[in-house]
Amino acid sequence: MTKDATACDVAVPPATVRSIGGRPVVQLGWQFLVLVEVADFAVLRRHLGRPRADLLIGDVSERIATLLPNARTMVAGRHLVEVAFVSEVRLSLDIALIALEAAFETPFDIDGELHKVHLLLGAGTASGHADDVRLVEEAERALVDARIERISVVRDVARSTASIDRIALARDLAGAIENEELFLQYQPKVHVRRQEVTSVEALVRWQHPTRGLVLPGDFIPMAEESRDIVALTLWTIRRSIADQKLLADRGHDLRIFINIAGGLLADTRFVRQVCALVESSGARIGFEITETSVIRDPESAIANLKVFADIGVTIAIDDYGAGLSSLAYLKQLPARELKIDKLFITQLTSSNRDPLIVRSTIDLAHALDMEVVAEGVETPAAMALLSVMGCDMIQGFLISRPINLDALIRFLQSNAHIPAPAELRTPFNRLATVWQRG
Ligand code: C2E
Ligand code: CA
Ligand code: CA
Repeated sequence: MTKDATACDVAVPPATVRSIGGRPVVQLGWQFLVLVEVADFAVLRRHLGRPRADLLIGDVSERIATLLPNARTMVAGRHLVEVAFVSEVRLSLDIALIALEAAFETPFDIDGELHKVHLLLGAGTASGHADDVRLVEEAERALVDARIERISVVRDVARSTASIDRIALARDLAGAIENEELFLQYQPKVHVRRQEVTSVEALVRWQHPTRGLVLPGDFIPMAEESRDIVALTLWTIRRSIADQKLLADRGHDLRIFINIAGGLLADTRFVRQVCALVESSGARIGFEITETSVIRDPESAIANLKVFADIGVTIAIDDYGAGLSSLAYLKQLPARELKIDKLFITQLTSSNRDPLIVRSTIDLAHALDMEVVAEGVETPAAMALLSVMGCDMIQGFLISRPINLDALIRFLQSNAHIPAPAELRTPFNRLATVWQRG
């Protein structure tokens, strides 16, 4: 049914992988998400009939996949296809959009009848390592504009963030803790072999009185700039300690991992305050830190991490692979867990390069005596592949989204009965259907 389209290799070059400190590092450059909508779909459906119209989107997706072989193409609705790719240069997006528009000049042969399909293209772009939810939001907004303007529209995540009234938000943040506007959600980490939740990660949210829910990507960076991050993190640690005890009282004595921003690792006063809090509580706590935060001031950071480890705080290295990093630091850190950045995991089963990187990272972490957590596990296929690769723990929307404490308790109770696996593959299918998606 689909006419052949020629592959457009130049349009979307794959991100380059180079080796630093003996470990491959992906030079991300730019991330793109293009939402491709079949324009006037209702008219087409009236003309073609529903069954044939419903098949059309598969053909559209196939033509795009042929045209952009390095992109991840996915049907996302009756008349919507999602196309995601990365490139070192911003120009690749423009080339891809032009190529898409040109490729759909050729009509589709539907049962011997030629039909031209008009596309509406809305794209989100981000340079470097951006939150993928923001990328989706920008692409969605771009598509809304594309429907009105009837031309392809591109929106940049960075520009839109800048347009938020950051000064007002920063001013409000100082009072947010006192006014109890912050709250925590928890996302479970599941141990693959043991098939049980072994820890949870605390993620902060801000219920702003007039703006509604504000996600950490929009206020953590400004909290770091204004130093409100100190008060925010101390609040997060206090709340997590209280919730850890509450969970333990309910029979779920899980370690709670807290994200610690880079600048704090060299702050002696902060370290003292944290030690006092953690030691007096006896709660099981872990810290997630990024390698980049250690690189800023390695000497103090490593010394303070050792202090934390000595009082029983488990250290996990977060977002591994997302930034430039050095193997030398990794060996010196008293870390017990390595979390592979979700960027590598969400594309695990659709890219040739990511499985190699993930595999070598797992082997490296094991050689350094660390357990590996894969974050951003969204599909049963990714979970199965990770288990075969020897990944120790997984975290992601497949298991559960971040959820409030009450929901976490319900989640833990409803899954307490999951029996141990008799065989490797079946339990993953079972888990995928049994466990909630939040
Ligand atoms: P992170 O530590 O890498 O947290 C993981 C982020 O990925 C979370 O976004 C989570 O909701 C999202 N996520 C989880 N599973 C999946 C999945 O399967 N697929 C996809 N696409 N995404 C998934 P969130 O909650 O918006 O947090 C964003 C970042 O904000 C965190 O990244 C962390 O760096 C920072 N953050 C959150 N809470 C705190 C905090 O209390 N203190 C500090 N300093 N930073 C925090
Ligand atoms: Ca984290
Ligand atoms: Ca992470």
